[in-house]
Amino acid sequence: MTEPQVSAPRLERTYAEAFPALAAEARPVIPAASRVAWVNEPLAAELGLDAAWLATAEGLAWLTGSGEDAPHPVALAYSGFQFGNFSPVPGDGRAHLTGELAGDTRVDLHLKGSGLTGFSRPGSDGKAPLAAVWREAAIGEALHGLGVPTSRALAVIETGEQIYRRGPRPEPAGILARVAASHLRVGTFHYAHMNLSVEDRERLVRYNLQRHYPHLLTDGEEAEPQAKTLLRAVAERQAQLVAAWMGLGFVHGVLNTDNVSISGQAIDFGPCAFIDEFSRSAVFSSIDRQGRYAYRNQPGITQWNLARFAESLLDLIHEDPNRAVHEATDVLAEFEESYRRAYLRVFAAKLGVHLSEGAPAATEDDVAGLIEATLDMLEAASIDFTGFFRALTETEDPAHLRLPGDSQVPESGEVSLAEWAARLTRVRELTGTSEQAACELMEAANPVYIPRNWRLEEALNQAAAGDSTEVLRIIDAVRTPFTRDPRFADLEDAPASSTGFVTFCGT
Ligand code: AMP
Ligand code: MG
Repeated sequence: MTEPQVSAPRLERTYAEAFPALAAEARPVIPAASRVAWVNEPLAAELGLDAAWLATAEGLAWLTGSGEDAPHPVALAYSGFQFGNFSPVPGDGRAHLTGELAGDTRVDLHLKGSGLTGFSRPGSDGKAPLAAVWREAAIGEALHGLGVPTSRALAVIETGEQIYRRGPRPEPAGILARVAASHLRVGTFHYAHMNLSVEDRERLVRYNLQRHYPHLLTDGEEAEPQAKTLLRAVAERQAQLVAAWMGLGFVHGVLNTDNVSISGQAIDFGPCAFIDEFSRSAVFSSIDRQGRYAYRNQPGITQWNLARFAESLLDLIHEDPNRAVHEATDVLAEFEESYRRAYLRVFAAKLGVHLSEGAPAATEDDVAGLIEATLDMLEAASIDFTGFFRALTETEDPAHLRLPGDSQVPESGEVSLAEWAARLTRVRELTGTSEQAACELMEAANPVYIPRNWRLEEALNQAAAGDSTEVLRIIDAVRTPFTRDPRFADLEDAPASSTGFVTFCGT
């Protein structure tokens, strides 16, 4: 950790300088009444920033790229497959890259809700509701606390403006200052494919490798084209990311290719949520009527997104198109295997099963069978996902597990709780998992606290009405999600019924 700094660290702009065609200069719109409502102190400390200074007028100017010697903020150019359809120029329509902070690792400082840019759609306002800004802040802190690579909020800014979204009444607007390894996305490469020369696209590949996968760059003769190396690296990180989401019952909500990062961090949280009563078809986004981005579809859609990524790289992978397709297809097949392994490991840990690296295929099959049987049971009996795994973590006798809320596994169902527990015990024995190992695995995999939809929604409404006490309490709880704390006892509870919860993309 670096020492806190008082003065404004200089922001760099390596990306905008290297790729001016991908970064259009654009001034953030910061209304005069804006004030910093919250600073993420742990993150500020990690970045060597003085949190108290960030909350001042000078700090606000620095955060929003409007200080005296601020670099020129830019709006990032990118395309995207949105709900399956190609959209050539979404770009940052209400967001700005303020600059890059060069520390141990270079990070982007990026704004959301900071006004119109050259990429804004006609009729849009370039703004974000304050509630949506707080939502993104809370989700980022939760994922981070849960050990998932993610972009994080550095500050929440209230602008004092009122904007119209749903309904006849206006709501307060806000600006999120967020930090990520970068905001380069799969959609960046679609845009580059259409607008940049082959040489510049090669440079873009190299820039991304240097920034996010420097260990994969070799000085001498490359063993394979760098575009293929990048495709494989992103596929591997995305496999880990989606497996982690699945293990937490997290639904991102809008997995368009413009929301899929090259770094492998989770970015751009809109209508995302953690599942309460388990259902593989859980969808929370009001606009995802077909369930394209439902819980169970996340790995498949990520592979689909990676296939679109591959298409943007094909001519860089091999000059012979057939050969290029062949090589890209091999990498996409590797995604399936990486994902399968990551998913097995994530859920094995949740069940207190130690699955060693070199476990025989038959053992993996037994573990996979147990995982699906567990999820079948949760789904059939509408059991709270997080509550179930935490109860399992804390019980001495899975056959007499106290299920969350008043849920029950009906004895007349496909499997009884006793049969399921017997299967769990068999698999633990088969894998040679000691009781202590089972406990340790589960303690580290099964959180007590997630940002529960019903509690978060209530807290966001309060924050929008001017009182952020409750959302800050939720953020506090989810930062150390595996440790029970009496102050947060009420935040553990599942809602009486979770059916019908939706969040809105009109963010
Ligand atoms: P997001 O939901 O932030 O991932 O945005 C998806 C796309 O829609 C991006 O290109 C945004 O810039 C654009 N967008 C979303 N909301 C607005 C808005 N209020 N004003 C302008 N552009 C927007
Ligand atoms: Mg987006």
